[in-house]
Amino acid sequence: MAITPSELPHYEVLALRFAHTEFKAKDAFLGRGDVHDGQQPMDFFVWVVRGDGRTIVMDMGFGDDACAHRPIKSDRHPVEVLADVGVDAATVTDVVISHLHFDHAGNSGYFKKARFHLQDAEMAFSTGRYMRYKILNRATDVLSVTAMVRHVYDGRVEFHDGDEEIFPGISVHKIGGHTGGMQVMRVHTARGWVVLASDAAHFYQNLDTDNPFAIVMNIGEVLEGNRRLRALASTPEHIIPGHDPMVLCLYPAYPGLKGQVACVHLPPLPRVQPG
Ligand SMILES: [Zn+2]
Repeated sequence: MAITPSELPHYEVLALRFAHTEFKAKDAFLGRGDVHDGQQPMDFFVWVVRGDGRTIVMDMGFGDDACAHRPIKSDRHPVEVLADVGVDAATVTDVVISHLHFDHAGNSGYFKKARFHLQDAEMAFSTGRYMRYKILNRATDVLSVTAMVRHVYDGRVEFHDGDEEIFPGISVHKIGGHTGGMQVMRVHTARGWVVLASDAAHFYQNLDTDNPFAIVMNIGEVLEGNRRLRALASTPEHIIPGHDPMVLCLYPAYPGLKGQVACVHLPPLPRVQPG
């Protein structure tokens, strides 16, 4: 008998920031015509889903070695940020990898007990012919990818092909677009279905204007993916973009971690009216 939503667990969902940078806005969006001239701030997150006796981490951030040749440093190590909310990376059993870009797939060595949930298409994309091209491999860290290949050989990668429920009320969904096998995670919460979009939508603006982020494998899949995100989430306010600093402003802070960790399973804060 199918489980109805009212019987599904209500999970806690946290967005944890570990780094910040800024781009020229015109370099961040594919369609430049309607983009402002200023800077585009960008936060880097990992996500935690907790409840019903389980803890799932989505994405692992980057280690400092992956950034030796990049103009970005983490403010705090992602593993330390996880510890701030009581998550010990060494004991986490399930990590959902949205995609294999450097800022999402690093640090897997810290997750010694985890199995890694990944789309077939993402591993094929990240080890296949397109990685010969700088324009498509510039956001990939080959050490993170080869570490994940080793996890395959150790039997620790749980492959998915499309949409799959991984626990009651938690499912992964292949979007593609940004990379060959980009996936998002949908989570049942007390306020409805929250979708952790990761880089299926970097910023709210990518969704609101159907203007993709500038690093993209398949533009059509990004745009169709936006529709998919809206269909999966209870409302547009239930979609959590992967890099938007507004997430930390819109949602209640985790106790003691204001500006660092947002509780996205809770309703957004009331908007302050200019006055
Ligand atoms: Zn990213």
